[in-house]
Formats: sequence, structure tokens, C-alpha cells
Amino acid sequence: MVQGLPATPIFDPVNSLKPIFVVGTRPEAIKIFPVVHAMRAHHRFDPIVITSGQHPDMCADVLRMAGVEPDFALTLDRKTGSLNELLVEIMRQLDGVFTELIEAYNPAGYLPRIPGVFVHGDTSTAFAAAVTAAMLEIPVVHVEAGLRTYDLHGPFPEELNRQLIARTALLSIAPTMPSEANLIRESISSEQIFVSGNTGIDALLWAVQQPVSYSDPRVSELMNRGATIIAVTAHRRENWTHLTGICEAVERIAAAKPEVQFILPMHPNPRVRSVIEERLSANPQVILTEPLEYIEFAHVLQTAKIALTDSGGIQEEAPSLDTPVLVMREQTERPEGVLAGTLKLVGTDPDRIVTATLRLLDDPDEYARMAQANNPYGDGRASQRITEALQYVLSGEDPPQAFGPGFSRSFVLANTGVDYNTLDSQPPQGRDQEH
Ligand code: UDP
Repeated sequence: MVQGLPATPIFDPVNSLKPIFVVGTRPEAIKIFPVVHAMRAHHRFDPIVITSGQHPDMCADVLRMAGVEPDFALTLDRKTGSLNELLVEIMRQLDGVFTELIEAYNPAGYLPRIPGVFVHGDTSTAFAAAVTAAMLEIPVVHVEAGLRTYDLHGPFPEELNRQLIARTALLSIAPTMPSEANLIRESISSEQIFVSGNTGIDALLWAVQQPVSYSDPRVSELMNRGATIIAVTAHRRENWTHLTGICEAVERIAAAKPEVQFILPMHPNPRVRSVIEERLSANPQVILTEPLEYIEFAHVLQTAKIALTDSGGIQEEAPSLDTPVLVMREQTERPEGVLAGTLKLVGTDPDRIVTATLRLLDDPDEYARMAQANNPYGDGRASQRITEALQYVLSGEDPPQAFGPGFSRSFVLANTGVDYNTLDSQPPQGRDQEH
């Protein structure tokens, strides 16, 4: 026990606690909604959800599908589209919202109700929210911490974002042990890290159990017919200059395998769409679609023979559905999947993409090796563990199994910067009004 730290209570014992979640993009929404569900199901927590406006439509679609209504939805004023403009605008607006929430729920002198701000992964939203919270001295909880390529340009700006977020986090929730090891190598104390599994797997296992109806009749027809499908996604900033090569690879695979059909949901980014549409829209074996709803995409991924992608999330998801993934990137921050044999890095050179895909289609042994490997990313219980972990940190009761060996509740609490001995445990009048 750290000197001066009271056993309990250290947070408001009477009212619900309100962890804040900030999400801005589709992958964040997908990976955070299971945590919000799990916290809502817990009697102590009543999470507050803020959408940053980074990808307003795709993020809102996922949250709506998951039944999560944002408490605050920021609308960003974007003129140039630059990363700095995005960061500054999110920080400016979040500063106002966080300040308002802290005044309402953590008034000076009283035990707080907001235990921290949860950010996820490596987006500009996550970085902006983490820095803004840290500057207001609100504890930052970083979910999906510790993924690294150690190449600041690949993926960009994600590698930079996640390294910087790591410095702000009071609590780092790593999806896997290798991610935890990365953080420890960066001098983050093992006392403030725990390993949960990836919450994206929780979302996926939920999604494939939901009934599905396809918004695009062409997709519906292919899925019902039992066609041989290759699911393709490509949108990463560092791949913008390689999109032509990726399209060439799809054309060459289609020519070599007339029975194969491609489903390629296009990211809304106009720079990505224009290249893909120009090159592939006339190809009868390729269905270019709008982004599919998450439940639709989860079913497509489950049915697909192979996924060809540069997406981070899909690298984690597809192995849970026994779908081999060829990763169209030069390096990955997800080495666990490569080691387990479910992912293969093929880069963006068309020759390599074509060779690897045809090999998988033609060689049943190679296919079985990739499809049957175990998913190292999660078992569908990560969100539950995170909720139990937060409850343990705040109450001292029932530590969950998955903490890294060094995890220390006292250490985490001692680093919040709050002197719990001077706080009043009686909630002040009128504090229970909703924001
Ligand atoms: N996804 C989706 N609809 C689509 C394509 C992808 O819902 O049409 C999901 C996919 O299942 C995964 C997430 O979006 O969970 C991946 O998002 P993205 O590739 O944009 O980002 P990344 O994972 O690379 O950060």
C-alpha cells in the first residue's frame, strides 16, 4: 500500500461512476462499444460517450447499430483537412466538454465520479482526447495500448499517435503480452499495465450472431449464392501511393481465377475512392460498395475465402472467423498473428500480392494452415475484463485474472495526483443532475 492512500472509498460511494469514452472513427467505435455495453451492465458505471466528429457518419452508424447514443457529438470546423487542424479543433472542443463534466461530477473537495477518460488505439481523436484530458489532470486510460512498428511513417500518423498517447496514460490496457512488453521496454511501469485481449473480438463475436440484411443487392446475391469471395479493403494513408498497384493485383487475380468474386467496400476518403473507382469499377468480378455496415461486413468476412487488406482491425478479426489474411503493408504492429500463422505480410507490390493469393487459392494445405491457426488476439471477454479491472482499481475488490504480473492498484492510484485523504465523501447537493 502506498503511503497516505486510504483503503476505500476513493471515489464517490453513493452515485454511479462516469468514465468518459471519446471515439471518432469507425474502428474506435467498433472496439469501444463492447466496453460501453459491459460498463452499462455493471451497477457502478454509467459511461459518458463523446463523438469527436473525425469520421462522423461511419462512427455514428456503428454506435447506432450497437445501441449507444452519444452524450456529446462534436461537429468539427474543418477547412484544410490537415491533421493539425483536426487535432486543434478536437482539442479545443473537448477542452470545453471535459471542463463542464469535471465541474459537474468532480467538484473540488469531493470524491470524484469521473474516474478517467478512455481513449482507444492510435487515431487523431485518441491522441487529441488523451492530451486534452492529461492537460486537465484527468486520468487517461489507454485501451489497445502497446502496438508498435517503431516506424513513425508506417502507419502514419498512427504510430506517432500511439507512442505519444502512451506517455499520457495512467493506465495502459494492452491487448496481448507482446504489446505489454513493448510498453515495458519504453519504461512504462508494469504496475500500470494490464492485458485484456482485444475488444474488437468481443465486437466481432457479437456481430456475427446478429441477423443480417445487406444494403447492396449485389452483395446479398453473392452471399446467398455461396460464391468464392475475396474481401478487399485498402485505405491507409501510407498506402495512398500504392493503390494503383493494389488494384492491378486485384485485376490480375480476377483474370487468373474467373470463379472468384471480390467485394471491396470503399473508404469514403475521396483520394482513395477515385483511384479504386477508375481502375476497378468496370470489372465484372469486382463489386465496389459503400462502406458496409459492421454487421454486414462481419458476415462477409466470415464467408470470404481470403481477406486482402491494409486494415489493422481486420487483421485481428479475420482469424477468429478462420479467414486467412494477406496484409498489404510492409510491416505490421500485429506480429502475434504473423507468428500464429493467420496473417501473412505481402506488402503492396502487385507481384507479391498475386503470388500469395493464388498460392492460397491453389494449395489446400497452405490454406488449411492459415485458416486453422488459433486467434492470438482475444476470446471475446476483453470488455468484461476491462470493466472488472476498473471496478478493482476503484474499489479494491475482486482483482481480475488478466493483470500483467506487475500490476499494482496502489501504484495506479498514487499516480492520479489526487490526495484522497482531503476529500469529502458526501456528494454535494444537486450533483446528480445529468449533464
Ligand atoms: N469494416 C466495416 N465495414 C466495411 C469495412 C470494414 O464495418 O465496409 C470494419 C472492420 O470489420 C473493422 C474496421 O471496420 O472492424 C476496420 O476499420 P478500418 O480498416 O477503417 O481501420 P483500421 O482497423 O485500419 O484502423
